[in-house]
Amino acid sequence: MLLAPLLGLLAPPACLACGRPPGPRDVLCRDCRVALPWLGPGVCARCGLPGRCGRTCPARRLAYDRAWAPVAYAGPARRLVGALKERGAVAAAGLMAAQMAATAPPGLLAGAVLSAVPADPLRRRRRGLDHAGRIAAELASRCDLEAAALLRRRPSRAGRQAGASRRQRLAEGRLPVEVRARAVPEAVLLVDDVHTTGATLHACAVALKAAGVRRVGAVTYARTL
Ligand SMILES: [Zn+2]
Ligand SMILES: [Zn+2]
Repeated sequence: MLLAPLLGLLAPPACLACGRPPGPRDVLCRDCRVALPWLGPGVCARCGLPGRCGRTCPARRLAYDRAWAPVAYAGPARRLVGALKERGAVAAAGLMAAQMAATAPPGLLAGAVLSAVPADPLRRRRRGLDHAGRIAAELASRCDLEAAALLRRRPSRAGRQAGASRRQRLAEGRLPVEVRARAVPEAVLLVDDVHTTGATLHACAVALKAAGVRRVGAVTYARTL
């Protein structure tokens, strides 16, 4: 517990993305901050990808209603996610949440209940950290929103699932998540670090909507292009 502050006194804090010393009280150096691949306002509200997808939107058949991320999953943003997930650098979650809060489209975060995409229990135990839950908690405290753990992973049955891809399991209706809360809010924003194919977000949204949630959105720190 005391080790981290002690090390902080001995060595200047290093940039979480490139390892060089940043300015005091900062977690990213100036070069990495400048190189963050911001997606900006010109993104599809449905899938979060740059441009207007229209009828070709890859999220058109997915259960969540909208998705947004401030940065592309590349460069320093990718390394920042790695710092949180692989090295347990919790300061990265604070920076991600601050950047999400500062750049979210108007109204996106208003009034929703945040719920982290639940991590695979095995990976979570190995990392010793619920990274999505950490981002959700940081975002909730910055935006004065409620964060609730509405979902949990279903225990995987190795025998039954061996050989079946995630896509197959989803297609067969075997969702990897289930709703753990007895009462659900009307609108939920799923929170995760990276939005890749959207398969897990979709599974979470299917489960939430089956439990009575009317609107499900997804906010992640980064979006795979
Ligand atoms: Zn750096
Ligand atoms: Zn789209």
